[in-house]
Amino acid sequence: MDIQLFKAKYEVEECLNEIRECLEVGWTGMGFKTVKFEEAWKQYTGLPYAHYLNSSTMGLYMAVDILKEEYGWSDGDEIISTPITFISTNHAIAKSNMKAVFADIDDTMCLDPKSVRERITDKTRAIMYVGLGGNVGNYNEIVEICKEHNLKFILDAAHMTGTRLNGKIPGKEADVVVYSFQAVKNLPTADSGMICFKDGKLDEIVRKKAWLGINKDTYARTQNMGNYKWRYDVEYVGEKGHGNSVMASIGLVQLKYVDRDNAYRRTICGWYRDRLAPYADKIKFTRIEDGCESSCHLFQILVDDRDALIVALNQAGISPGVHYVANTDYKMYSYGKGTCPHAEYVSEHTLSLPLNLYLSRSDVDYICDEVIKFLEK
Ligand SMILES: *Cc1c(COP(=O)(O)O)cnc(C)c1O
Repeated sequence: MDIQLFKAKYEVEECLNEIRECLEVGWTGMGFKTVKFEEAWKQYTGLPYAHYLNSSTMGLYMAVDILKEEYGWSDGDEIISTPITFISTNHAIAKSNMKAVFADIDDTMCLDPKSVRERITDKTRAIMYVGLGGNVGNYNEIVEICKEHNLKFILDAAHMTGTRLNGKIPGKEADVVVYSFQAVKNLPTADSGMICFKDGKLDEIVRKKAWLGINKDTYARTQNMGNYKWRYDVEYVGEKGHGNSVMASIGLVQLKYVDRDNAYRRTICGWYRDRLAPYADKIKFTRIEDGCESSCHLFQILVDDRDALIVALNQAGISPGVHYVANTDYKMYSYGKGTCPHAEYVSEHTLSLPLNLYLSRSDVDYICDEVIKFLEK
């Protein structure tokens, strides 16, 4: 047995045809397929703007950086964030010389609104919210808190491609939403991401900042000299952060299938829950909010002896994962240690069972048999 945690499944022939087009026309860079993917993404999500980037790490950084400049935030100002996330989320805050203030999570694995309220100070500028595993958690209440306290809302939607809340893709309420199309995400490309600002002015800025600050429009607009392509202005010390047409080709194809793929992910999660439900005294599941149709990026359980279960599963040829070690355990963010007891509990007890599109019912049964064998020992 060799059952992996993640294994991306691609529409191989269709992806190759789309990439072939790039190679045949001789254009693999920004433009061409990246523009098509941005249009397709806006249509799919209903969000008004979308700019395609080389990763969501870049997107999260751009989000904080641009909001900070736009709203005149100072170094050391605070953004409330979760310790249970991939490190990109909190690095985006630190990279902009702001401070990630950690709030605790609840049984949805997302930020606990009560804890968030307790962390608000006169230096708080925004809430960074992660839809962990594709769950929305208490999204609507976080939106309310932002309104009440005049905070910006940044949504790290790396796990949320395809997630619906009451039938709609959440995100319109956020000032900026950032998606990941990294190799193991629900819509895998290899590496890329999308940044979706609510405000068109900020979308214009990210298009410059993600391309080294280059503003190609200046001369084209003012002098109408489109063929003077080298006559551009540079307005910022930007990043080389934009996406390319090869990645966008894969994205365009996979997007067509992501709802189908997510439906199968939900089926797999249903199998896990059915089989493991009788052991609810030994296994805790993530609570899924009413109205949330999760993308099911992860299937997480909480168990007493997590590390021993990982060893047992490894011996049975099964590779589970851990999402995540509390970021406050890392040196960089150790100032937050002890402030989020539930997150620290989760960090020690959470385990992600394999969740990928190659899994069959009998694979899931085999995994559950091994988990149950361990629990009954
Ligand atoms: C994967 C991930 C990221 C980073 O995405 P990249 O596209 O790899 O940069 C950010 N946040 C979360 C929660 C993630 O899981």
